[in-house]
Amino acid sequence: MLSRPLLILDIDETLIHGREEPLDRPCEFRAGQYHIYERPHLSQFLDVVSEQYDLACWSSATHDYLEIVVNTITNNLDEPLLFVWDRSRCTRRTDFTLQEEYFLKDLQKIKKKGFDLERVLILEDEPRKVNRHFGNAIFVRPYLGALDDNELPKLASYLESIASISNFRDLEKRNWRSIAEKL
Ligand SMILES: [Mg+2]
Repeated sequence: MLSRPLLILDIDETLIHGREEPLDRPCEFRAGQYHIYERPHLSQFLDVVSEQYDLACWSSATHDYLEIVVNTITNNLDEPLLFVWDRSRCTRRTDFTLQEEYFLKDLQKIKKKGFDLERVLILEDEPRKVNRHFGNAIFVRPYLGALDDNELPKLASYLESIASISNFRDLEKRNWRSIAEKL
Protein backbone atom coordinates (compact mmCIF):
# COMPACT_ATOMS: atom_id res chain seq x y z
CA MET A 1 0.00 0.00 0.00
CA LEU A 2 1.51 3.28 -1.09
CA SER A 3 1.61 6.16 1.35
CA ARG A 4 -0.39 9.24 0.43
CA PRO A 5 1.89 11.50 -1.60
CA LEU A 6 2.89 14.94 -0.37
CA LEU A 7 2.66 17.96 -2.65
CA ILE A 8 4.59 21.01 -1.45
CA LEU A 9 3.26 24.20 -2.94
CA ASP A 10 5.22 27.30 -3.74
CA ILE A 11 3.17 30.49 -3.45
CA ASP A 12 4.58 33.54 -5.26
CA GLU A 13 4.45 33.29 -9.06
CA THR A 14 3.27 29.67 -8.72
CA LEU A 15 -0.22 30.05 -7.19
CA ILE A 16 -0.52 33.82 -6.94
CA HIS A 17 1.13 37.05 -8.06
CA GLY A 18 1.56 39.72 -5.41
CA ARG A 19 2.67 43.27 -6.19
CA GLU A 20 2.74 46.69 -4.56
CA GLU A 21 1.36 48.49 -7.61
CA PRO A 22 -1.98 47.06 -8.75
CA LEU A 23 -2.53 45.72 -12.26
CA ASP A 24 -5.25 47.30 -14.42
CA ARG A 25 -7.91 45.27 -12.60
CA PRO A 26 -8.80 44.88 -8.94
CA CYS A 27 -6.90 42.24 -7.00
CA GLU A 28 -8.61 39.28 -5.31
CA PHE A 29 -7.36 40.35 -1.87
CA ARG A 30 -4.65 42.33 -0.07
CA ALA A 31 -1.78 41.12 2.10
CA GLY A 32 -0.25 44.12 3.82
CA GLN A 33 0.76 46.55 1.07
CA TYR A 34 0.58 43.83 -1.59
CA HIS A 35 -2.21 43.36 -4.11
CA ILE A 36 -2.72 39.62 -4.55
CA TYR A 37 -3.85 38.18 -7.90
CA GLU A 38 -4.79 34.51 -7.83
CA ARG A 39 -3.66 32.32 -10.70
CA PRO A 40 -6.78 31.37 -12.71
CA HIS A 41 -8.54 28.18 -11.52
CA LEU A 42 -6.64 28.19 -8.21
CA SER A 43 -9.44 27.00 -5.93
CA GLN A 44 -10.43 24.19 -8.32
CA PHE A 45 -6.78 23.17 -8.54
CA LEU A 46 -6.46 22.89 -4.76
CA ASP A 47 -9.75 20.97 -4.55
CA VAL A 48 -8.71 18.44 -7.17
CA VAL A 49 -5.16 17.80 -5.98
CA SER A 50 -6.18 17.57 -2.31
CA GLU A 51 -8.22 14.47 -3.15
CA GLN A 52 -5.07 12.50 -3.87
CA TYR A 53 -2.25 14.44 -2.21
CA ASP A 54 -1.53 15.75 1.24
CA LEU A 55 -0.75 19.42 0.78
CA ALA A 56 1.83 21.64 2.40
CA CYS A 57 3.41 24.95 1.57
CA TRP A 58 6.99 26.14 1.50
CA SER A 59 7.67 29.70 0.47
CA SER A 60 10.65 31.99 0.76
CA ALA A 61 8.28 34.82 1.70
CA THR A 62 8.07 36.27 5.18
CA HIS A 63 5.85 34.73 7.85
CA ASP A 64 3.19 37.44 8.14
CA TYR A 65 2.65 37.78 4.39
CA LEU A 66 2.52 34.03 3.93
CA GLU A 67 0.03 33.54 6.73
CA ILE A 68 -2.47 35.92 5.12
CA VAL A 69 -2.03 34.49 1.63
CA VAL A 70 -2.17 30.82 2.64
CA ASN A 71 -5.13 31.28 5.00
CA THR A 72 -7.05 33.08 2.26
CA ILE A 73 -6.39 30.72 -0.63
CA THR A 74 -6.88 27.50 1.40
CA ASN A 75 -9.96 28.76 3.20
CA ASN A 76 -12.32 26.30 1.48
CA LEU A 77 -10.17 23.18 1.77
CA ASP A 78 -11.56 20.32 3.86
CA GLU A 79 -8.16 19.35 5.27
CA PRO A 80 -5.64 21.86 6.61
CA LEU A 81 -2.16 21.99 5.07
CA LEU A 82 0.26 19.64 6.83
CA PHE A 83 2.70 22.50 7.34
CA VAL A 84 3.34 26.04 6.16
CA TRP A 85 7.04 26.87 6.01
CA ASP A 86 8.35 30.36 5.38
CA ARG A 87 11.71 31.96 4.65
CA SER A 88 13.11 30.93 8.04
CA ARG A 89 13.15 27.29 6.83
CA CYS A 90 15.06 28.18 3.65
CA THR A 91 18.82 28.19 3.27
CA ARG A 92 20.33 31.51 2.20
CA ARG A 93 22.56 31.22 -0.89
CA THR A 94 24.44 33.65 -3.11
CA ASP A 95 24.32 33.50 -6.89
CA PHE A 96 27.74 34.94 -7.71
CA THR A 97 27.01 35.32 -11.41
CA LEU A 98 23.93 37.43 -10.81
CA GLN A 99 25.35 38.97 -7.63
CA GLU A 100 22.22 38.30 -5.66
CA GLU A 101 20.94 36.26 -2.76
CA TYR A 102 18.30 33.61 -3.06
CA PHE A 103 16.63 31.11 -0.80
CA LEU A 104 17.10 27.39 -1.24
CA LYS A 105 14.47 24.84 -0.22
CA ASP A 106 16.49 21.89 1.00
CA LEU A 107 14.25 18.83 0.93
CA GLN A 108 16.53 17.03 3.38
CA LYS A 109 14.56 19.01 5.96
CA ILE A 110 11.39 17.33 4.70
CA LYS A 111 13.06 13.94 4.92
CA LYS A 112 14.10 14.67 8.51
CA LYS A 113 10.44 15.23 9.32
CA GLY A 114 9.83 11.61 8.33
CA PHE A 115 8.56 11.99 4.78
CA ASP A 116 9.67 9.53 2.11
CA LEU A 117 11.13 11.73 -0.63
CA GLU A 118 10.14 9.16 -3.26
CA ARG A 119 6.55 10.27 -2.60
CA VAL A 120 7.17 14.01 -2.34
CA LEU A 121 6.71 16.58 -5.10
CA ILE A 122 7.46 20.28 -4.90
CA LEU A 123 6.00 22.90 -7.22
CA GLU A 124 8.30 25.77 -8.12
CA ASP A 125 8.61 28.56 -10.65
CA GLU A 126 12.31 29.14 -9.84
CA PRO A 127 14.48 26.07 -10.50
CA ARG A 128 17.47 27.31 -8.48
CA LYS A 129 15.39 27.20 -5.28
CA VAL A 130 15.29 23.41 -5.43
CA ASN A 131 18.54 22.80 -7.24
CA ARG A 132 19.56 19.96 -4.92
CA HIS A 133 16.32 18.09 -5.57
CA PHE A 134 15.38 18.36 -9.24
CA GLY A 135 13.97 14.83 -9.02
CA ASN A 136 11.19 16.04 -6.75
CA ALA A 137 10.37 19.20 -8.64
CA ILE A 138 7.72 20.16 -11.11
CA PHE A 139 8.44 23.54 -12.64
CA VAL A 140 5.67 25.91 -13.65
CA ARG A 141 5.81 29.06 -15.74
CA PRO A 142 5.95 32.09 -13.45
CA TYR A 143 2.54 33.64 -13.00
CA LEU A 144 2.57 37.41 -13.48
CA GLY A 145 -1.16 38.12 -13.65
CA ALA A 146 -2.41 36.98 -17.07
CA LEU A 147 -6.15 36.24 -17.06
CA ASP A 148 -5.89 33.53 -19.74
CA ASP A 149 -3.30 31.48 -17.85
CA ASN A 150 -4.13 27.78 -18.04
CA GLU A 151 -1.25 26.20 -16.14
CA LEU A 152 -3.19 24.98 -13.09
CA PRO A 153 -5.86 22.86 -14.83
CA LYS A 154 -3.13 21.15 -16.85
CA LEU A 155 -1.07 20.61 -13.74
CA ALA A 156 -4.03 19.14 -11.86
CA SER A 157 -4.62 16.59 -14.65
CA TYR A 158 -0.96 15.68 -14.68
CA LEU A 159 -0.73 15.32 -10.90
CA GLU A 160 -3.83 13.11 -10.86
CA SER A 161 -2.28 10.90 -13.53
CA ILE A 162 0.95 10.24 -11.60
CA ALA A 163 -0.34 10.10 -7.99
CA SER A 164 0.04 6.33 -7.68
CA ILE A 165 3.61 6.14 -8.98
CA SER A 166 5.82 4.64 -6.27
CA ASN A 167 8.91 6.77 -6.91
CA PHE A 168 8.39 10.29 -8.26
CA ARG A 169 12.15 10.86 -8.38
CA ASP A 170 12.57 8.28 -11.14
CA LEU A 171 9.92 9.90 -13.28
CA GLU A 172 10.85 12.33 -16.06
CA LYS A 173 8.73 15.36 -15.20
CA ARG A 174 10.19 18.12 -17.35
CA ASN A 175 7.76 17.14 -20.11
CA TRP A 176 4.70 17.33 -17.82
CA ARG A 177 2.93 19.99 -19.89
CA SER A 178 2.96 18.02 -23.13
CA ILE A 179 1.79 14.88 -21.29
CA ALA A 180 -1.02 16.83 -19.64
CA GLU A 181 -2.17 18.16 -22.99
CA LYS A 182 -2.71 14.56 -24.19
CA LEU A 183 -4.68 13.45 -21.11
MG1 LIG B 1 7.85 31.30 -6.49
